[in-house]
Amino acid sequence: MPALLLKPGREKSLLRRHPWIFSGGVQRVEGEPVSGGTVDLLSSNGEFLARASYSPNSQIRARVWSFEEEQIDREFFRRRIRSSLATRHSLEIEKRSNAARLIYAESDGIPGLIVDRYRDVLVIQSLTAGSEFWKEGLADLLLEETGLSTIYERSDADVRELEGLEPKTGLLRGNLSSFVFPVTEHGLNFHINLQSGHKTGFYLDQRENRLRVRGLAKDKEVLDCFCYTGGFTVNALAGGARSVLSIDSSADALALCQENIALNHLDASRQTPLEGDVFQLLRKFRDENRSFDMILLDPPKFAPTAAQADRAARGYKDINLFAFKLLRPGGMLVTFSCSGGIDAGLFQKIVAGSALDSGVEAQIIEHLFQGPDHPVSLHFPEGAYLKGLICLRK
Ligand code: SAH
Repeated sequence: MPALLLKPGREKSLLRRHPWIFSGGVQRVEGEPVSGGTVDLLSSNGEFLARASYSPNSQIRARVWSFEEEQIDREFFRRRIRSSLATRHSLEIEKRSNAARLIYAESDGIPGLIVDRYRDVLVIQSLTAGSEFWKEGLADLLLEETGLSTIYERSDADVRELEGLEPKTGLLRGNLSSFVFPVTEHGLNFHINLQSGHKTGFYLDQRENRLRVRGLAKDKEVLDCFCYTGGFTVNALAGGARSVLSIDSSADALALCQENIALNHLDASRQTPLEGDVFQLLRKFRDENRSFDMILLDPPKFAPTAAQADRAARGYKDINLFAFKLLRPGGMLVTFSCSGGIDAGLFQKIVAGSALDSGVEAQIIEHLFQGPDHPVSLHFPEGAYLKGLICLRK
């Protein structure tokens, strides 16, 4: 077995079961490991620490498959897949939606592999050399263990570049009659597009938060910023919002949002789509003295990693500050960050700074999080990326 001999002291994170080894922690490569192939991770005095996949082109040089000296083979992956599926089953997610994340990479002990289910289609994202190395075998196992027959690949996330991998999309197994079809979530329907939708087609991580917004929207004048295909807009309408103004910079997203409103037979006259830039429109609304009872902020990732945290923090500060200004007394701000580089504590501080600078008194009434089909390993806090706050303006 090829091995990576670590520098003295660099075994510490592995002893705490964190699954990554950075290039700077490697003293020497023993043998000739192939990209994505399996290597042993050894302490500086040669003790076995873990078995991992090798990423020669990435700063994250190895990702742990197992902390045991066990065989990394098809049966190993079958056990991991079964365990992930059992978790989702015990959560009874299928009672809430026919779209769910079945495998969430490091959090489920399969670094690099994301598998989402949309009705009877599996969509996979392979993000690392390791998941790429095992991809064909993993695809077969996924079909065997789920009993389904179709897999579509959406390995077009930017992070693949860091691993030296080209983007890849297309049908991996089975047939598809259409790339576009509706899924049901908490009784509402949403058209998803497997080919062009964000991530693997939909923001599955916001499922429970969309329902929460539905429960809070009654009789409110809602502003949904960064509405995309209407996840929150449709839920706010279904919850009895008096009106919803939905902003996105993408005309295509807004068109799909309209479709989703129609798909659910909701009163389209209560909704207004607005194509534009949220940063500019919030300022314009302030100049026009407009106000709302509920404002949703679910922007795209401003900081994928900690390196961009400063710039991202300014972005969050800006939109939250103007949102507070547009909120009526008693109104609610539902604000999110999906930036891995900004943790929940920092996000709360940014929002607090926004309230302070906008001259508004507000309280946190709820903390929000990614849904339970996006679990977080206690040893891999990086898996927690989506955080949200519901703030009440006094
Ligand atoms: N809330 C959505 C997901 C939002 S994704 C849901 O639950 O489904 C982020 C969206 O922000 C994308 O649709 C993107 O087109 C849009 N966007 C990005 N930058 C923007 C900007 N400056 N102004 C308006 N929309 C923007």
